[in-house]
Amino acid sequence: MDVRFESNHKKHEISHPQSKAGVGITLESYVKERSTLSFSFDVQVYPFKCPAMTETHSISSEHQANILAKALPYIRRFHGKTIVIKYGGNAMTDPKLQADFASDVVLLKLVGMNPVVVHGGGPQIETALNRLGKKGEFIQGMRVTDEETMEVVEWVLAGEVQQDIVGLINQAGGKAVGLTGRDGGLIHARKLKMTDNKDPSKEYDVGLVGDIIGIDPSVVKALQDDAFIPVISPIGFGENNETYNINADVVAAKLATVLSAEKLILLTNTPGVLDKAGQLLTDLSARQIDELFADGTISGGMLPKISGALDAAKSGVNTVHIIDGRVPHALLLEILTDQAFGTMIRSF
Ligand code: ADP
Ligand code: MG
Repeated sequence: MDVRFESNHKKHEISHPQSKAGVGITLESYVKERSTLSFSFDVQVYPFKCPAMTETHSISSEHQANILAKALPYIRRFHGKTIVIKYGGNAMTDPKLQADFASDVVLLKLVGMNPVVVHGGGPQIETALNRLGKKGEFIQGMRVTDEETMEVVEWVLAGEVQQDIVGLINQAGGKAVGLTGRDGGLIHARKLKMTDNKDPSKEYDVGLVGDIIGIDPSVVKALQDDAFIPVISPIGFGENNETYNINADVVAAKLATVLSAEKLILLTNTPGVLDKAGQLLTDLSARQIDELFADGTISGGMLPKISGALDAAKSGVNTVHIIDGRVPHALLLEILTDQAFGTMIRSF
């Protein structure tokens, strides 16, 4: 095992004051707080100009060259590998972070990796529902989806959020293509039968929430081979062509498994998985996850996130991480540096 993963396996007692700070934390201040490595991925690595490249240079050229040189082992290791990235709802509400995210995805593609983006849209769906006088209701982290909510979900995810991400990636010099589960028969689903986490005899009706029956990744593979970056909305279709709302973390996890991805990275709006005292858990095993589920430390949207992450880790996805998408260039920090970052989910 190499240095990077040993480092990620270590248990660090790191407090995260920035967890309450929300967006606007600079990567440099974040990293300085956590280690001696000062990292700022200057946008000059791109051979073309985009809006994300107008930042002022805060590091010397020598330092910049040094940083790029340090990324080489990671670029080599992950070259040609598939990396599934869940870009979450709650981590994508800041325009600057969105542009940074898009340029990071383009950089990964240009250095030879195969990023596949699955997006969420919780806050955006909530805003649209509120306009209609509706309020979202969740059971065990899943949005209760009646027919009207399903229409809003499909419209917001496929019509708005997906297209925003596609536009930003294209603006950053990539070639993104938006898909829903319907395109190319990608995500086949049925109505989810949800049982209570603690009492399996108790069932909930969450409406048109989908349970994935199968994923046919051929459309994603064809796009990847053609230098495109797939951007997938978590909408599935059923036997009778009906539409289902599926939690984006669940879609990302299943897709990572089906694509035999090297990495699954779930970007969210916390530093990772936190324990009861609010401290970051840098490393989580299946047994620890059971305990955190049982004592209620993991709740809400973190429930499907962790279940999906654990399934992916158990099904052969090499590394699975839940990281803070509010940190600028979080993706590069996770993939191209030796920083222990967020929570790594282990299969054992
Ligand atoms: P996303 O849009 O990224 O999927 P979610 O709201 O669905 O975001 O899930 C992330 C949320 O899960 C966090 O913002 C937090 O409120 C909640 N959560 C519940 N338990 C935990 C935990 N143990 N550690 C971190 N976050 C948790
Ligand atoms: Mg969520």
